[in-house]
Amino acid sequence: MISVSTITGYLYCPRKVYMNYALRIFGQKRKEAVSGNIMHAVIEHVNNNEKEIVEAIESPVLENIEIHYRANYNKALSSILEKNKIELERLKQKKEDSMAEVWPVLLKEAKLRARNVHDFMQKHNVIGKELWERLSPKYVSEVSVASYALGLNGKIDKVEMHSEDCLIPMELKTGKAPKQGLWDNHRIQLAAYIMLLKEKYSQVNEGYVEYLDVGERRKVVLNAFVENEVKELVSKVKALVSSAVPPEKEANKAKCMKCDIREQCEALK
Ligand code: SF4
Repeated sequence: MISVSTITGYLYCPRKVYMNYALRIFGQKRKEAVSGNIMHAVIEHVNNNEKEIVEAIESPVLENIEIHYRANYNKALSSILEKNKIELERLKQKKEDSMAEVWPVLLKEAKLRARNVHDFMQKHNVIGKELWERLSPKYVSEVSVASYALGLNGKIDKVEMHSEDCLIPMELKTGKAPKQGLWDNHRIQLAAYIMLLKEKYSQVNEGYVEYLDVGERRKVVLNAFVENEVKELVSKVKALVSSAVPPEKEANKAKCMKCDIREQCEALK
């Protein structure tokens, strides 16, 4: 099976995919990738503990709910930074600098979550266990999906659950967002996740990429055209990783400047 991240990697550089998956050559994570992983881990941690967070809300006042969420994001961030201590030391990155880098995005996320819960409380006048039981939408993180028919598997960052069969997949992205729409690899990634979820939940037909730095959600709707694009990419990646010859180097040298296996790539014929 091919993972969804491999097909988006193919869109970035087929040679890198070949080196990673055919030759098992991997590089060390760069600073941006480590910061992104920290952010994902904090959001995942809060999502996984949201039942306790919601049940502990004592006041329906929006400001208080925001403070409550902020405190939980802050606690999760401190613990995740501690877990990444060695990686940060390798990158010569101070904990405080990492904190300053990811905190503005987490604040936006805390505000969004607080607003969601506050609006639900206002509408339904519920608190505590009943609030959590009835709260909609709810969020689940790191949802594993796979399909033998598509030959694809992957892990979705976040799924927004409105009811048992009304699910919306979401990918969280740090870094620069396009002025409009989505970067192509993000569009394909989301489309692949929608296809994988749709196999089990037939009503799923759309999803969002959340560009965290700009605080915007951008929509992807599944259609026959994008489904074909995903299927063709799966076939191309399968052929690539079983080929005996590595593909040519990437023409866009700006990509190579940021590549974590640049030296090994130069050395490869
Ligand atoms: S250095 Fe450039 S061509 Fe080589 S794997 Fe990295 S991105 Fe691709």
